[in-house]
Amino acid sequence: TVVLGIETSCDETAAAIVMGGNDVVSSVVSSQIEIHADFGGVVPEIASRAHLEALNPVIARAIVEAGIDEQRIDAVACTHGPGLIGALLVGVSAAKSLALAWDVPYVGVNHLEAHLYSAFLEDPTLEFPMVVLLVSGGHTMLIEMQDHGRYRLLGQTIDDAAGEAFDKVARFLDLGYPGGPAIDAEALNGDPDAIRFPRALSDDPDNLDFSFSGLKTAVMNYVRKHPDVSSADVAASFQMAVVDVLVTKARRAAQVTGAKGIVLGGGVAANSLLREELLGACAKDGVRGFLPSRSMCTDNAAMIAAAGWYRLASDGPTDLADGAHPNLKLPLIRFDDADGGV
Ligand code: ATP
Ligand code: MG
Ligand code: FE
Repeated sequence: TVVLGIETSCDETAAAIVMGGNDVVSSVVSSQIEIHADFGGVVPEIASRAHLEALNPVIARAIVEAGIDEQRIDAVACTHGPGLIGALLVGVSAAKSLALAWDVPYVGVNHLEAHLYSAFLEDPTLEFPMVVLLVSGGHTMLIEMQDHGRYRLLGQTIDDAAGEAFDKVARFLDLGYPGGPAIDAEALNGDPDAIRFPRALSDDPDNLDFSFSGLKTAVMNYVRKHPDVSSADVAASFQMAVVDVLVTKARRAAQVTGAKGIVLGGGVAANSLLREELLGACAKDGVRGFLPSRSMCTDNAAMIAAAGWYRLASDGPTDLADGAHPNLKLPLIRFDDADGGV
């Protein structure tokens, strides 16, 4: 099956051709980072307009780079939520038009589920159950993936997402936008043990929730009190604090679920220290650690096509009358309070 994937939920316009759910034949990502950089964050109206301009050429390039005739495309999958409503609608409208014109199924894809599927693009042999640490600009979740489409929420952030914390701290330190890659780079020249920033919610080993808003405040207070501190030391110490709680809790999640492996997903999964520390922890615990390549961690359309392929097989096509869902949640399985559940 040849699936065209489309992604326009936030500030990346992307299209990809994926065969059989995991063979990435082409993946084109056009980032709006430079367009939004002046504003220090994504401006929704500007994002929609930029998607509108970029999408058709991006889709055309994905098809050309795949070297296939468009008649070979068997389905069109597109992110239909969560995300910015105007941005989502650009992709969804295009995907539905193409599906109609080519007379193939349309599949609306959950962006978060797609982040979970990015690992399968590079290793389809991953075994269930596995723990997925989903760390992105808008989400921070520990999920037990029991099977395709079966997700149990083990913990999540009670305030800021991990990526949001990177972005806010980077802005405060004047390191630029987006903050994650900027802090990652700055931290290389700093000492991660220079400042001991707080590791929130880490006293109780059964608590797999996260909190990053206090850490952000702690960084600001520290820098205000010590204006001469090296920003590389602050960046490195902040990054160490984030990675420390992420890895500690992911490890714990694998222990309590008996998972065979831990997989990373979402933009923050591109972080160098997180990647290194997670692999180290997995090696120690004898569980498999799997890191999707950096380009598959941040927003892309190959993961959308992959998740769409699985959803098409399990649920069939999405009705063309279905629109965009800005607040879409990950479909979680319910479990009893006896399991300590949500
Ligand atoms: P969501 O997926 O929750 O809807 P999103 O799509 O905006 O949000 P992603 O594109 O998956 O999020 O990830 C973007 C986030 O990843 C940003 O907050 C960015 O700073 C962060 N990020 C990217 N690279 C790195 C890195 N090397 N280190 C830390 N954070 C990073
Ligand atoms: Mg993005
Ligand atoms: Fe994302």
